[in-house]
Amino acid sequence: MFSHLRDIVLFIVGYLVPGKGGIRYHPDITMEEVISLAKLMTWKCALLNIPFGGAKGGVICDTKVLSDSELRRITRRFTSELADSIGPNIDIPAPDMYTNEQTMAWIFDTYDVLHPGKNNRPVVTGKPIEMGGSYGRNEATGNGVCFVIERFLSKALIPELQTVSGSRVVIQGFGKVGSVTAQVLFRKGAIITAVSDSQGGVYCKDGLNPDELLSFKEEHGTVVGMPDTMTMTNEEILQLECDLLIPAALSHQIHGENAHKVNAKVIVEAANSPVTPKADENLSKRGIIVLPDIVVNAGGVTVSYFEWVQNQMNQQWDLEEVNARLQKKMYKAMDLVFEHWQDFVVCDETPSDEKILKTLNGKKPDFRSIALSISIDRVATATLMRGIWP
Ligand code: NAD
Repeated sequence: MFSHLRDIVLFIVGYLVPGKGGIRYHPDITMEEVISLAKLMTWKCALLNIPFGGAKGGVICDTKVLSDSELRRITRRFTSELADSIGPNIDIPAPDMYTNEQTMAWIFDTYDVLHPGKNNRPVVTGKPIEMGGSYGRNEATGNGVCFVIERFLSKALIPELQTVSGSRVVIQGFGKVGSVTAQVLFRKGAIITAVSDSQGGVYCKDGLNPDELLSFKEEHGTVVGMPDTMTMTNEEILQLECDLLIPAALSHQIHGENAHKVNAKVIVEAANSPVTPKADENLSKRGIIVLPDIVVNAGGVTVSYFEWVQNQMNQQWDLEEVNARLQKKMYKAMDLVFEHWQDFVVCDETPSDEKILKTLNGKKPDFRSIALSISIDRVATATLMRGIWP
C-alpha cells in the first residue's frame, strides 16, 4: 500500500502558535527543505502581520504514479501519524505542490473522526467551499502575486515599466499559482510570451492565451505541444528576454550556474526559494530586481488565515470581501518593504547618526534583505517581550 511513500517529514518553527504552512507531496523533498520552508513561513507570517508561526510538511511520493485511492490512503495515514501535532490551535496545514483541496478534505475528515464532537474545520485550510473553505483561496496566491507586481510597478522604480499592461512576462510552472498568475496578468493586458511545466515550456513572441493553455493542459497533461508555439526547455525559458520573470514551480531554479543568463528586468518569486543566494549576488550586480517570496506569494497564507478566522467564527465571507481584504494586505506589505528600502541611506563614511546607521557596507540592500529584516525584527521583538518562563 505504501510502496511509494518512503518517508514523512513535518516541522514547525516560530514564535507563535498555531503554526501555518503547506503540505507538499514530491519525490525529491528532504527534511532540510521542509525545515527551510517552515522558516520561510515564519518570516512570511511576520511580514504580513498574520498571528501564526511557520510550519511545513512533506510526503516523499510521486503523485503522478499514484491512484486517487492510494493518495487518499497515504493522506489519511499521514494525518493519523501526525496525531496531535496538528490541530486548529497547534498547526494548520494547507495545500502546496501536488496537494489540493481534495487532500485537505481527506486531512480534515481523518482529523475530525479522531477528534469527535468539536468544530474541527479550522484544522486545515484550502478546503473545498462545501466543507468550510474560503471563497478565493484557490486563486489567492496567484491573485496576491499580481497585487504585489502591480503595486511594485506603480512605484516607478523602472520608469518604462509602471503598469502590467504591455509588459512581457515569462512564467515557469503552470500549476495552481502559475496558471492563475498568468490569467490575471493576461486580463490586465500583459503579454505572456512563455510558460512551462515539469515536461518543458512553450513560447510565442506575440503572446499566449492562458485560458487556452489551461484547456490544452487539462486534455494533454502538459502545455508542451500547444499549437502555434515553439517548444523550449525549462532552462531556455529562464533565459528569455522579458520584463517580468515569474518562477512559480520548484525551489532553486535560478542558481549560481544560470543566473548570469537571466535576461529579465524583475524576477518575481511566486515559488518558495526559487532564487539561491549565489544567484541573488549575480542578479544584484547586474541590476536585476528580485521581489522576494515572503512578500510575493504571501497571498496563499493570507487567505488561509481568513479561512481559519471564518471557521472559528462560523462565518463565510463572499468573494468580494475576501479579495478586497487580500488586496489591502498585499499592498500594505509591498508598501512597507518599499518604504524601508527607500529609507536606507547609502554612505561609505563611518555612520554618525541613527539614520546613517541604516547602511549596509555602503550599498543599498536588496528587497529580500529588507523584507527579512522587518520580519526578523518583529519575531525578535515578540520573543523578547515574552521572555523566558519558568
Ligand atoms: P502545483 O503543484 O499546483 O504546480 C506546480 C507546477 O510546477 C506544475 O505546473 C508542474 O508541472 C511545475 N513543475 C514541476 N517541476 C517543474 C520543473 N522542473 N520545471 C518547471 N515546472 C515544473 O504547485 P503550486 O501550488 O502552484 O506551487 C508552486 C510553487 O508556489 C511552490 O514553490 C509552492 O511552494 C509555492 N507556493 C504555493 C502556494 C499555494 O497556495 N499553492 C502558496 C505559496 C507558495
